[in-house]
Amino acid sequence: MNIDRTEKYIELTQRTLEGYLEDIREQALSDGIPIIRPSVQGLLRFLMGYVRPKNILEIGTAVGFSALLMHEYAPDARVTTIENYEPRLVKARENFGNYAKDSRIELLEGDAAQILPRLKDGGYDFIFLDSAKGQYITFLDDIIRLLAPGGMLVSDNVMQDGDVIESRYAVRRRDRTIHERMREYIREVSDSPCLESAVLPMADGVTVSYRKRD
Ligand code: SAM
Repeated sequence: MNIDRTEKYIELTQRTLEGYLEDIREQALSDGIPIIRPSVQGLLRFLMGYVRPKNILEIGTAVGFSALLMHEYAPDARVTTIENYEPRLVKARENFGNYAKDSRIELLEGDAAQILPRLKDGGYDFIFLDSAKGQYITFLDDIIRLLAPGGMLVSDNVMQDGDVIESRYAVRRRDRTIHERMREYIREVSDSPCLESAVLPMADGVTVSYRKRD
């Protein structure tokens, strides 16, 4: 199945985004900023309305598109989002200043590897993981610790443009470390006794998990 065509089709079937979200999305796409694809936009929008999370943590803000989307569709939630790349932080600050005036979005500036250990155990009922893909596996212990019982974890881009399903020898040598790490991540979220997970072959691959209640 051709991912771009599928995404284009899904985009056409979805209700239009609010004007400001559409503007941020178009600007991000024209600036070459990687943001969630239409099917993942639909998934988050659906989950925000159904799960109605109160405390969301996002790892990987970029310019704030997905954080603002979650903020828009989960009106009771506080969104904490982490980004470490200054050029994107500039734009994220501007977007949050313009569109999240009720201070329900907190931008934590810095490397998630340093920030996650400082956040509160069980403090989040929804975590969206969308940062450097090679780091997913190193963040997982902290993420499980941060997830409240019953809380949900959504991880984007777990298929690495399809590489993950190929043998390591079919993958370019320079992509093998990330291939191995992402396979390990998928194995860990699937096998963890603390989580129940499903791997969804949508967009570039998404895992959805929830933290089991003890
Ligand atoms: N979630 C955003 C959206 O859809 O609007 C897109 C996020 S983009 C795919 C990934 C972002 O994660 C990049 O802007 C990158 O700079 C950031 N990032 C990668 N590794 C990070 C880390 N260790 N700590 C904080 N941010 C990180």
